[in-house]
Amino acid sequence: MEVLNIAEPKSRPRLPDWLRTKLPTSASFTHTRALLEELKLHTVCESAKCPNHWECWSKGTATFMIAGDRCTRACGFCAVSTAKPFALEADEPNRVAEATRRMRLKHVVITAVARDDLADGGADHFRQTIEAVRALNPGTVIEVLVPDFNAREAAIETVLSVRPHIFNHNLETVRRLTPAVRSRATYDRSLAVLARVKAKRGGEIFTKSGLMLGLGETEDELFTAMKDLRKAGCDILTLGQYLQPTLRHLPVVEFVRPEKFDEYGARARSLGFVHVASGPMVRSSYHADEFHLTPLTEH
Ligand code: SF4
Repeated sequence: MEVLNIAEPKSRPRLPDWLRTKLPTSASFTHTRALLEELKLHTVCESAKCPNHWECWSKGTATFMIAGDRCTRACGFCAVSTAKPFALEADEPNRVAEATRRMRLKHVVITAVARDDLADGGADHFRQTIEAVRALNPGTVIEVLVPDFNAREAAIETVLSVRPHIFNHNLETVRRLTPAVRSRATYDRSLAVLARVKAKRGGEIFTKSGLMLGLGETEDELFTAMKDLRKAGCDILTLGQYLQPTLRHLPVVEFVRPEKFDEYGARARSLGFVHVASGPMVRSSYHADEFHLTPLTEH
C-alpha cells in the first residue's frame, strides 16, 4: 500500500481531495437536530465525530446510540468519551421508537457504547429498544451494531430473541493491529460473536462487520481478515478509511485511494459477501438503507 502525507506525526495530515466533503445545510439537517434534542437522544454521528453526519442527517437518517454516551472502554480510534456511565434510562427505548417514527426511517441503526459495568453488557436495553421500535414502526428494517458483550452467550441470545434484521459487530482492524486499536476486545472474540449469531440464527438474521483501513495494515492482512469474516459466516462487509478524530487518537498511517477501495470491494464480493460497501467515506451505517433484504435462503 502506498503511504501518503506522514511527514509530521504531531499534526494531522492534510486530507487528500477525495476525503473532503461539502457541508450541506438543509432544512432537514436542522429539523433532525431539533428532533434529537427534543427526544434527548445521542447519535453515534455526533459522539464519534462521523464525517458523514451532515449528509446523513440532511437525508433524514441517523444511528442512535443508546445506553448513554460514556463508554467503559477506550479504543484508540474512537471519539466517544471514556467515563463511568450513568444509569440506563428506562424510557429511552420509547424515545428511539418515536424518533424512528417521526423521521420516517425505513432502516434504523441502533448502537451502544460498551457497558462492561452492567452484568448483561446492556443487552436487555437493546432488546427493549428493538421491541419498542418494531411496535411503533412495523415495516422498518432494524439493524443493531453491538459491542462484543464479552462474548456472553446469554447477552447475545437476549438481542437475538427479538430478531433484529441485521446483527452488526465490527472487527475494526486486522489481527496484528487489534491490541493497539481496540480496547479489551479481541480479534478472535469478535469473530466468535459473529460465528455464534450465524450458527444460532443464520437462516433469519444477516450478520455484518466492518474494517477501517489506513491504520497500517498490509493487503495480505486485510485479505486474511476478510476471509476470517467469511469463515465466521459474515454476510455484509463495510470497508472505510480511518480518520483520526483528534490528535490524542491513533494517527492515520495511510490514505487509501478510492480505486484501491474499489479493488478491495471486488475482492470481498468474490469471497462471497452478499453486500459490500467499500469507499473512503464508508462507515458502518453509511447508506445502510441501500442494502435491501432478500431471503437468506437465496444466497
Ligand atoms: S467500545 Fe470502543 S469503539 Fe465502541 S464506543 Fe467504546 S471506545 Fe468507542
